[in-house]
Amino acid sequence: MMRPSVLIIGGGPAGLTTALRLSARGYAVTLLEQGGELGGRLIRSAADAIPPVFLGCHRASLSLLKTLGTARHVRFSKGINLEFLLRGDRTDRLHRPWAPAPFHALLSLATFRGLPFQDRWRALMLLERTWEGDPALPPDLESRTADEWLADRGQSEAARALVWSPLSRFLLGDDLTVVSAAMLITTLARCFLSARRNSGIAIPAHGMRHLLLEPARAQLLRSGATIRLGTAVNQIRFDAQRVSGVDLQTGGTLAAEWYVAALPHRSLYRLLPEGALARYSYFQQLTGLTDSPALTVHLWLDRPLPGPRLLLLPGKTYHWMVSRPDGGPTLVSLVATGKVDVLDRPDRELLEVALHEVRAAFPALSSARTQEYRIVREPHAFLSVKPGTAALRPLQQSPFLNLCLAGDWTDTGLPATLESAILSGERCADAIHMKMEEGR
Ligand SMILES: Cc1cc2nc3c(=O)[nH]c(=O)nc-3n(C[C@H](O)[C@H](O)[C@H](O)COP(=O)(O)OP(=O)(O)OC[C@H]3O[C@@H](n4cnc5c(N)ncnc54)[C@H](O)[C@@H]3O)c2cc1C
Repeated sequence: MMRPSVLIIGGGPAGLTTALRLSARGYAVTLLEQGGELGGRLIRSAADAIPPVFLGCHRASLSLLKTLGTARHVRFSKGINLEFLLRGDRTDRLHRPWAPAPFHALLSLATFRGLPFQDRWRALMLLERTWEGDPALPPDLESRTADEWLADRGQSEAARALVWSPLSRFLLGDDLTVVSAAMLITTLARCFLSARRNSGIAIPAHGMRHLLLEPARAQLLRSGATIRLGTAVNQIRFDAQRVSGVDLQTGGTLAAEWYVAALPHRSLYRLLPEGALARYSYFQQLTGLTDSPALTVHLWLDRPLPGPRLLLLPGKTYHWMVSRPDGGPTLVSLVATGKVDVLDRPDRELLEVALHEVRAAFPALSSARTQEYRIVREPHAFLSVKPGTAALRPLQQSPFLNLCLAGDWTDTGLPATLESAILSGERCADAIHMKMEEGR
């Protein structure tokens, strides 16, 4: 029997996940990637763009790594907690005590010394009431910023700046004053107010190339998939109800039974013919989506640190940092999200500030020297989850029967990060397979 054919445009994590899931089910997969390498935004300027951090709630990512045989490198150690670099360069951590949900989160906040007692008490009340739904969450949370909602719920400026804002930057990629209250609440609830294991943190010694990209490529080639690098799609062709083919930039058209566009929303928009844009609000609403920037600085320092750590940095230039041993040296990755102005600063200045913040956080590295560094600037790192965005994120199934959309920005209900990209790829693969089975 002929294997059903599927053409996937975009070799980022969303496209790779769809390709892996469908080739495992016997589809003849062709993956088209315009760049010279797989990985999309995970890879920039020959560097890993993102430090490898997994939370227990990242179910789709962990399940994908399990399929690839690399989940064993992702260990949720009891010793890794969310730490905050506080005023006076003091650090304090949110412990993860053994208690059922949501008491582990409440106890953890109760013992956190980063906030004055009164603020801690108010934050505890907020979490408890949110978990109990008393009072019920108002219906307009998607139209308000998280900052407005938290201020309404009695969270002081200090609590917002020292705790909620760093959490928002880390989990959603932008500031409290930008993100929707609904997205913050659902994300906090998923990670911290549900089963205790969901708030676990793993910082593997290996980066995303080793954990995800190289094994995914090897597995796809083993299963007979075709990977075409350096192959940009210029336009997607439609007839009345279906996609009929894709035009390549180098000339020529490719066709398949099924299509998956696993592209950033801006790239997808450029590939759509006017007719599809004029006729379907599903595609028109892509113009309402906007992105947040991110900057990552990786520093290899010539002193060892005992184990991996994750620190949120309230009020600093960088918003969070991850340290992990990398052979002899320590690799510290610092991430700033949602701030466009940092992207324009010269490398020298960014390095100086990064070293200053690393030394403040880790006195053991105060005399460490930089052996190597990489700086990754990306103006379109994440979909901005500002109020009103949820309604604009498209479902994976498009109005065209044989076209699905994947990508961190599609409607997964999650912040637009790696976990969302992988989940969207899973959903595309399931949708195609289900329709295929129905049509048999
Ligand atoms: C600096 C930075 C820091 C980040 N930090 C984190 C983090 O800490 N945690 C986290 O979870 N996420 C982080 N992210 C976000 C993460 O990288 C993305 O969520 C993820 O890569 C999205 O995957 P995707 O497959 O949806 O899209 P992408 O990774 O963008 O992949 C899309 C692919 O489509 C290809 N493409 C585009 N147009 C065409 C075309 N016409 N023809 C063929 N191919 C095309 C692109 O080349 C690309 O390879 C960060 C991103 C950046 C840039």
